[in-house]
Amino acid sequence: MALSVLSVASEAYPLVKTGGLGDVVGALPAALAPHGVDVTTFLPGYPRVLAALEDSGAPLHRWPDLLGAPAQLLEGELAGHRLLVLDAPGYFAREGGPYGDPAGRDWDDNWRRFAAFARAAADVAGGAVAGERHDVLHAHDWQSGLAPAYLRFAPPAEDAPRTVMTIHNIAFQGRYDVGIFASLALPAHAFAVDGVEYYGGVGYLKAGLESADAITTVSPTYAREILSPDFGMGLEGLIRTRQRRVSGIVNGIDTAVWSPAADTSLPARYDATTLGRRAANKRAVEQAFALDPGDGPIFCVVSRLTWQKGMDVLADAIPALVERGGRLALLGSGDAWLEQAFRDAAERFPGQVGVRLGYDEALSHLLQAGSDAILIPSRFEPCGLTQLYGLAYGCVPVVARTGGLADTVIHANAAALAAGVATGIQFDTVTYESLAGAIALATDLYADAARWEQIQRAGMAADFSWATSGRRYAQLYRELLAA
Ligand code: ADP
Repeated sequence: MALSVLSVASEAYPLVKTGGLGDVVGALPAALAPHGVDVTTFLPGYPRVLAALEDSGAPLHRWPDLLGAPAQLLEGELAGHRLLVLDAPGYFAREGGPYGDPAGRDWDDNWRRFAAFARAAADVAGGAVAGERHDVLHAHDWQSGLAPAYLRFAPPAEDAPRTVMTIHNIAFQGRYDVGIFASLALPAHAFAVDGVEYYGGVGYLKAGLESADAITTVSPTYAREILSPDFGMGLEGLIRTRQRRVSGIVNGIDTAVWSPAADTSLPARYDATTLGRRAANKRAVEQAFALDPGDGPIFCVVSRLTWQKGMDVLADAIPALVERGGRLALLGSGDAWLEQAFRDAAERFPGQVGVRLGYDEALSHLLQAGSDAILIPSRFEPCGLTQLYGLAYGCVPVVARTGGLADTVIHANAAALAAGVATGIQFDTVTYESLAGAIALATDLYADAARWEQIQRAGMAADFSWATSGRRYAQLYRELLAA
């Protein structure tokens, strides 16, 4: 019989996405189906999610008072797989993003919104909803972190499901003041060092990591890095204590969405044997970003504009990039000072630097299909997806050697080039010097067209589909159930 998993997350592509979390959660059901795992995705009922539910029928369950507001459970479909939605207007019927208002300020009651969401998830997976029962509850990031804790400290029935907590980014922890504890409807003993207590307050991700039967993160290197204070960000001690339960499973990419030969959003589709067709996409990038036409390399960026992503160092390196004959097309949104820095750069280097501030899914595809290289100077990167899209699209990744970036890109040193296995460029520290050095190396390699194509083709041949990672998640669930 198929194993049943409730995948609990605050985002799932194509309904809600602010970053890689959405892509991964959206792809998991199809990735796991071939391995005998039925994934039901559980999402908050944001307006966009409710709008996508077609005729969802009668609610499967009602909570008259879910931590302070009424809620009901609706059923729908997510790309052919089962979707459950927590319809709780008091928490989720708001204009803005999943976590904040239209101006980008976090909602004050995020602690209550995602506690209610997690409580409902524990009820759904744990047998409180008639007809509903799951073998495993798989929680993603802090927004779902309390779900394993509810199952541990306040299970709705005996024989609770097994739980997995996946860290997509340990920097976001859901840390709140101790004052909220009384409103979480957890027993007093849950407020303990090995429970939900975190530096005197309440930690949602911490609670999940402490309570889950297994912990995963999204690359083997990041799984090691978070054992150290620089990367663990306060949770390194806990991770070390529970290290036996931690594993790193690298994200795959959804090839139904990200495949240059089938991508209908592109001016020109292509594969590894028809790389010449990328030229039409490059012209389209030039137009979209008001870049001077030319044969030199176009570097692109598709990113949140934050310190984590090394965007401050990138801004500093723009003059060096232009000096080497490169052009830059940047798509991103984030911190105001970084947005301003890139606006300034576009003004200073018209025709060489083009900037689009905002979020644009179609443009992100065009950039991967028409740029020559993608710059990813992250200070830390749990997995990273844009380098995987770059590899699949022949847009050579230039990346910092950290986390999933270290695990997925093969650096073009002399030996790797000679062996024909290089897929990109890595650099060690996120400093101006090393990034400028990596850009210089990229422009040198680009100047040798045959060599560059070899790197592109090696990247396109690499398999980052979900096949391997889907199998590993399925194996993990089975091990937990057998234990
Ligand atoms: P993170 O989740 O830390 O932001 P990832 O590399 O794992 O980083 O995933 C980022 C995802 O968001 C990718 O799918 C990327 O293409 C997308 N993305 C980031 N910024 C933008 C943007 N401004 N417009 C469109 N897509 C974006």
